[in-house]
Amino acid sequence: MSKDIQPIFIMPEGTQRSTGRNAQRNNIMAAKLVAETVRTTLGPKGMDKMIVDGMGDVIITNDGVTILEEMQIEHPAAKMLVEVAKTQEAEVGDGTTTAVVIAGELLKKAEDLLDQEIHPTVIARGYRMASEKANQILHEISEPINSSDIATLRKIAMTAMVGKGAESSKEKLADLVVKAVGNISENNGNGFFIDIGNIKIEKKVGGSVEDTELILGIVLDKEKVNAAMPRLVEGAKIALIDSPIEIKNTEIDAKIQITDPNQLQSFLDMEEKMLRDMVDKIVNSGATVVCCQKGIDDLAQHFLAKKGIYAVRRVKKSDMEKLARATGAQIVTKIDDLSSVDLGKAGAVEERKIGDEEMTFVQDCKKAKAVTLLIKGGTEHVIDEVKRAVEDAIGDVASALRVGKIVAGAASSEIELAKQLRKYADGLSGREQFAVNAFAAALEIIPKTLAENAGLDPIDVITNLKSAHDQGKKWAGIDVFSGKVIDAKSKGIIEPLQIKSQAVSSASEVAIMILRIDDVIAGGGMPDKSQGPPPGMGPGMGMPGM
Ligand code: ADP
Ligand code: MG
Repeated sequence: MSKDIQPIFIMPEGTQRSTGRNAQRNNIMAAKLVAETVRTTLGPKGMDKMIVDGMGDVIITNDGVTILEEMQIEHPAAKMLVEVAKTQEAEVGDGTTTAVVIAGELLKKAEDLLDQEIHPTVIARGYRMASEKANQILHEISEPINSSDIATLRKIAMTAMVGKGAESSKEKLADLVVKAVGNISENNGNGFFIDIGNIKIEKKVGGSVEDTELILGIVLDKEKVNAAMPRLVEGAKIALIDSPIEIKNTEIDAKIQITDPNQLQSFLDMEEKMLRDMVDKIVNSGATVVCCQKGIDDLAQHFLAKKGIYAVRRVKKSDMEKLARATGAQIVTKIDDLSSVDLGKAGAVEERKIGDEEMTFVQDCKKAKAVTLLIKGGTEHVIDEVKRAVEDAIGDVASALRVGKIVAGAASSEIELAKQLRKYADGLSGREQFAVNAFAAALEIIPKTLAENAGLDPIDVITNLKSAHDQGKKWAGIDVFSGKVIDAKSKGIIEPLQIKSQAVSSASEVAIMILRIDDVIAGGGMPDKSQGPPPGMGPGMGMPGM
């Protein structure tokens, strides 16, 4: 064992590495910073953030996942927290701030345990046990919701929107959200299948949020192709065509070789005849409205207009699919094959001026399995934030129907969870007990934050809530407006079970994952964006400065 042994480099030059407690501390610090950033937005009294991107575009939002996405976070552990928000968004559509704040607090509490020399794998095991138990408790305290219980569904939608840009019109918006989700949900006997992609959200500046409307059908950001077409078609029969209603120029270019003027005329005649044939096929099918995914030739437009047919062109593929679901039409590729059975129905198809643009409303569909929420508001920023709040509400209502279970909000669930987890911890032996207790304490970050954001004393609030729960009031929560303890459920502060179960699961998963990392190796040899081209990638001598 000679002392002057040469250091051995196993990684390329430029590689950065931190290990052991250092690595853990850095990661925990980064994750906590992320949680701290969104924490002030939590709850009805949460503040908004203004994010200005490199192009100078401004976003004003209260929405956790939006803030984190726009911040372009780079630290790897911090990014893992952003993933928690994204998972929450994808699975439920709401509760993103909650999930991130809980994850941050789980890591903070873990740090305390690390300081007491409790090994990370023990903490990880304790957190996993706590997370499983928490989900079991959540299921036990949750209550069933009946899909016909419109009043409760409206409360869920309103809870999602309190304190957001949508708040002023939350009654009306909640009504529209519940109707929209109700329309697109399908019950196959085994439960609800809900694809919220079938709720199209269109935004239009103009009027106020109160003018937002639900269209039982699809609104297209398109005007009719020809001024001579009718503005309104009632009892519309709609053909959806995903091929062009025109003759491809290339085909003709290839064939034309003019040797005498008559030939040109006969080509033009032929083209006209082909277009006329196409239009005749459409007319013969009985269609009174045509939505075409591709272009419509000028001449064809003219023929269609003469037959009193309303047509739009270059409709997005996704809109074509929604139109099919809303109207019951089949999308047809070959116009030759178009027949009356392919047509969809709508009470009316109408061109309406919204703001200063014309839009096509395919509305009053009888069994609209795809609908449109047309969100209006004074400015772009207002509408964008209303849209995010409405999307949260849609996610919550859909989740409540899908899972069929609800809990109450205003921190009542979190306090009840903490209480029952502590009881569970009492029955455990060994060091995992500390971790389960830490997990329980971490959940109290929700009442603490709701209180702080409302300017209330967090310690008073938590003490009052705990004593109410000790008296068996499982839905005792904090009214952030009055500072009093209330029964959150009877006050209508209701959330889907999944918003909590998902938040607890993914927060603990990411906390565990970060805790188990004791070595961070930041790739050498990767191009450093801030410093132009990568340094010469030699044979990796690992000798700095060479
Ligand atoms: P998230 O992104 O986690 O959904 P929010 O800003 O939407 O964050 O806040 C959600 C939290 O606010 C939940 O804990 C919910 O129970 C709580 N909350 C909602 N409405 C009220 C209310 N009227 N009083 C107290 N708390 C409420
Ligand atoms: Mg929310």
